[in-house]
Amino acid sequence: MSDSATSRTGSCQCGAVQVQILGKPMEMHLCHCATCQKLSGSIFGAYVTVKDEQLTITVKPGLNEDSTLKTYKDTSGASGNANDHTFCGICGSPILNRSPLMPTMRVVPLGILEPYPLSEDGTAGTEGQEGDDGETWEMKPRMEYWCVRKRKWVGETGAELVFKRQPDTDEDLKKLMTIFGLG
Ligand SMILES: [Zn+2]
Ligand SMILES: [Zn+2]
Repeated sequence: MSDSATSRTGSCQCGAVQVQILGKPMEMHLCHCATCQKLSGSIFGAYVTVKDEQLTITVKPGLNEDSTLKTYKDTSGASGNANDHTFCGICGSPILNRSPLMPTMRVVPLGILEPYPLSEDGTAGTEGQEGDDGETWEMKPRMEYWCVRKRKWVGETGAELVFKRQPDTDEDLKKLMTIFGLG
């Protein structure tokens, strides 16, 4: 399968920031921590993790890159880690998270990626993307973090690894590495 068949594009709400992910993500996960709740304005964050070289971020020509792509350094520790959250300075959509613990990886919110190609008029599409293998981007999350804060009415997702908070035992970390394809 070629990289283009599994690639995805995405954007912030206003379209000033465009993202492209080339090839399959390493994994998809949910996080119910306080940071992800506030960051998304929803009750959990859904993300894909990709390698730095898979991700391209561009700012619309004519816009100032520094004011369009802003980064907030979260040191609250509410997610268990310090993280850099990059967002669109115009519309506020989250674009990516970076953790100093995983310097070569980028965590991209699933909701900014287009599951389907855009319609010709630029509005969000609703049909399956041509060339999609049907599994890469429709796959279920493999991990759930911070389930101590999970809303009770959010059902079971079938994730393989479910953590009350952060994974911290050697056994947990080993399983995690296997999912990331690093074990
Ligand atoms: Zn924007
Ligand atoms: Zn989180």
